Amino acid sequence: MPDLSKLQPATQAIHAGNSIGAASGAVVPPMVLSTTFERGHDGLSYPGGFVYSRYDAPNRQSLETKLALLENGTEAVCFASGMAAIAAVLHALGPGCHVVVPDDVYFGVRGIVEKLYAPWGMTFSYVDMTDLPTVEAAIQKNTRLIWIETPSNPELKITDIEAIVKIAQPRGILTGCDNTWATPYFQQPLALGVDVSMHSTTKYLGGHSDLLGGVLIFREQTPLSDFARTYQKAGGAVPSAFDCWLLGRSLATFAARMPIHASNAAQLAAYLSAHPRVERVLYPGLVADPYHQVAKKQMKGGFGGMLSVLLKGDQANALAVATKLQLFKHATSLGGVESLIEHRKSVEGPTSLTPDNLLRISVGIEAIEDLLADFGQALG
Ligand SMILES: *Cc1c(COP(=O)(O)O)cnc(C)c1O
Repeated sequence: MPDLSKLQPATQAIHAGNSIGAASGAVVPPMVLSTTFERGHDGLSYPGGFVYSRYDAPNRQSLETKLALLENGTEAVCFASGMAAIAAVLHALGPGCHVVVPDDVYFGVRGIVEKLYAPWGMTFSYVDMTDLPTVEAAIQKNTRLIWIETPSNPELKITDIEAIVKIAQPRGILTGCDNTWATPYFQQPLALGVDVSMHSTTKYLGGHSDLLGGVLIFREQTPLSDFARTYQKAGGAVPSAFDCWLLGRSLATFAARMPIHASNAAQLAAYLSAHPRVERVLYPGLVADPYHQVAKKQMKGGFGGMLSVLLKGDQANALAVATKLQLFKHATSLGGVESLIEHRKSVEGPTSLTPDNLLRISVGIEAIEDLLADFGQALG
């Protein structure tokens, strides 16, 4: 096997970390369900390198090898969900510290802040990350982390990753980037200087809406990466062998799926922008989008498969359009091969800041003609 670190992501995603079935000659890595691993003849050693599957397990190790390579990191730490990965980062900081969080952020982040980490004694400021002076002004003496999410959820705001790193680094503040929407295919936060890149692997990396997972990827070993590993092993929010195996299988087609998601999203965004029943389309790939220039600077090869649309009219009208669509299922989540649409405000609940005429769209990899025709009939 050539040195995989020198090869292209499409090749890495197929071939990295597959050696666990080497003894049998299996081309496809087997799923190892054993929770426990036998000690050697000396009574002390573990010849296979594994002890107990919460600490480490063959399919998880294989998956972590693939995911670290995809973002050019030295280490990936996998979790049972995206939120468990975010929890590991927040838990590393500890009570008494302050975190800067985007005002437009995945709703689960607000949930974990309010339910777990604010009661634990951490403080948080929600700021518009696209306004750099506001970010600087939000920093306090005890600020330990600036959390980035770009494109943001659900308004697709684009944060200038390098500019945030420039604010954080000289002050000794950590930076983390939720790279779930952009994926390593279009955006490489570690190369832009952030300390930790995070994914809900439930989304594009899984790609088929049939597994739940999360990962933290680190450029180098640091106290934060060591903590994440400890949190994973000791806290135990680890992915099962089956979820690791399934995600490894999904990654084999990751580089094939992503350009189709992005090209379909770009075409749908253009179509909707020109439609008389549409007020505005939020998609960083549109030249007229206020964030297009920053997106162009830091995203490569496309702008992802997510967009939001503000329809003319009220919430009832937005819900009626979502219901009338046939190929686009009205359901939460994103990143699967099938197209989904969601009335975001009614999922986020009464505290949501999302406009009530906004529909969030996860554009799948169906034929674009069929997707456009579906919108044609739903918008009438
Ligand atoms: C889904 C999602 C998460 C949470 O991940 P889970 O796997 O559902 O725990 C975090 N951030 C973003 C941007 C997401 O889309």
